[in-house]
Amino acid sequence: MAQSATSKGKGKVIVAKAMKLKCPMCGFDGEMGPNSNYEVLGRYNGYPAYVCKNCGKGLRITNAGRAMITKRAKAALLPAGVVDDMNKRFEEMMKRKSP
Ligand SMILES: [Zn+2]
Repeated sequence: MAQSATSKGKGKVIVAKAMKLKCPMCGFDGEMGPNSNYEVLGRYNGYPAYVCKNCGKGLRITNAGRAMITKRAKAALLPAGVVDDMNKRFEEMMKRKSP
């Protein structure tokens, strides 16, 4: 029992190489992850959806499965209005969750 000294300290985290994405709208090329240029939006028609903070456009990842291997995601623009829609839905969901 006492031997399982797997410390949950920092530095012991297995760092998966971050996926990179080039925004098809503004051309921003960067990593995807926490505090990156790309903010998770949710899902759109089954695709992972992100917002590019640089240009504010909604993107869907078109090669999510393959990108896990290649570390290079491909994205297509979401139709106008989808980002607002999804944000609204997210806000409503949060409102419902919190009493
Ligand atoms: Zn962009």
